[in-house]
Amino acid sequence: MNGTASSEGSADVAAIRAAVRALCDDFPGEYWRALDRERAYPTDFVRALTEAGFLAALIPEEYGGSGLSMRAAVAIMEEIQASGCNGAACHAQMYIMGTVLRHGSAAQKARWLPPIASGSLRLQAFGVTEPTSGTDTLALRTTAVRAGDRYIVNGQKIWTSRAEHSDLMLLLARTTPREEAESRTAGLSVFLLDMREADGLTIRPIRTMMNHATTEVFFDNMAVPAENLIGEEGKGFRYILSGMNAERILIGAECIGDAKWFIEKASAYAKERVVFGRPIGQNQGVQFPIARAYAQMRAAELMVHAAADRYEAGRDCGAEANMAKMLAAEASWTAGDMCVQTHGGFGFAEEFDVERKLRETRLYQVAPISTNLVLSYLAEHVLGLPRSY
Ligand SMILES: Cc1cc2nc3c(=O)[nH]c(=O)nc-3n(C[C@H](O)[C@H](O)[C@H](O)COP(=O)(O)OP(=O)(O)OC[C@H]3O[C@@H](n4cnc5c(N)ncnc54)[C@H](O)[C@@H]3O)c2cc1C
Repeated sequence: MNGTASSEGSADVAAIRAAVRALCDDFPGEYWRALDRERAYPTDFVRALTEAGFLAALIPEEYGGSGLSMRAAVAIMEEIQASGCNGAACHAQMYIMGTVLRHGSAAQKARWLPPIASGSLRLQAFGVTEPTSGTDTLALRTTAVRAGDRYIVNGQKIWTSRAEHSDLMLLLARTTPREEAESRTAGLSVFLLDMREADGLTIRPIRTMMNHATTEVFFDNMAVPAENLIGEEGKGFRYILSGMNAERILIGAECIGDAKWFIEKASAYAKERVVFGRPIGQNQGVQFPIARAYAQMRAAELMVHAAADRYEAGRDCGAEANMAKMLAAEASWTAGDMCVQTHGGFGFAEEFDVERKLRETRLYQVAPISTNLVLSYLAEHVLGLPRSY
């Protein structure tokens, strides 16, 4: 799967979609159901995506990646979800590296990006959220204190997804006490933590309503080499923010894929299920929620594409990325709820996959950022309303 952002056209994106579909055909509903029951990691699926080069879509070719555009990456994540698979197991491998790519030194990029591109190193754990600070990232309490050529890290993260299936973690920690920092957003730093060689690191899985491999992580006098600091000390919050747009756009694309899966599944069932001597889909009471979900999905899809295009052009896309994630997550939830209703009792049966997909897609109204925080961003930064927190 080779290509460059500049040369890639709609035919290339269509070919990428077809290739993702073909790969996903090998991972049908039974595969995901069995994993869901055990809360097990989809190792074979992730390996197949890695070997096909899809997870290295956004890594430039000079570092061994596929060098594709954000539109292509959007197509990959959307198709995974629309095929009934779940990209949450590995989507972060696609975008977390962006912080290293944008803010890492030449030596860091040369050292880390090629193995991340090949998949021999996994960078798919993102240690930002903490139990006490929640959405208020600037209040996080994990500290990293410089001691010679190392930093000593103490603290705790929560909801650090895929930590058990990742070699590296992008870690945000406080390097200057809040009261001594030169500004509200200064004093946090980003580290590329090599979990394979970390002493004083404990990872505990958290069982959730869907199969998500999320964890809580504890740091007890854990040393990180100073050379693993990304960019300048104290500027980590800005570096993390700059990566969040890609995350929101790609998760928006996943939600569009989920919505398409629900709409297709509901339409097919409504055509074949006969009650009162006719297909249920002949009743407008059944048709209209499907049609409404379709319209809502298409509108959200336009916003995902608008955000991806602005991102690709290097323009500010904070508002579009936030709106794309919010609208797409709402569209996938509406479509999922409609799909359950269309299936009646069978919407609750495990073998139909509807209830599993519904549990999986619900997350995206909360993570990576909750709807209220998207709305407050728009209110303040787009509409000029007073800051609320
Ligand atoms: C399964 C899962 C996987 C995750 N993966 C990761 C990960 O890999 N890495 C990572 O760092 N984090 C991860 N997260 C964390 C996720 O980003 C947070 O859960 C999310 O940002 C919300 O933060 P919180 O849970 O602390 O909620 P809180 O901040 O406690 O907020 C609770 C509720 O109050 C609302 N709220 C809070 N403040 C305000 C306000 N000022 N105005 C209006 N409403 C407000 C929020 O919108 C939310 O609905 C994950 C979470 C889950 C559940």
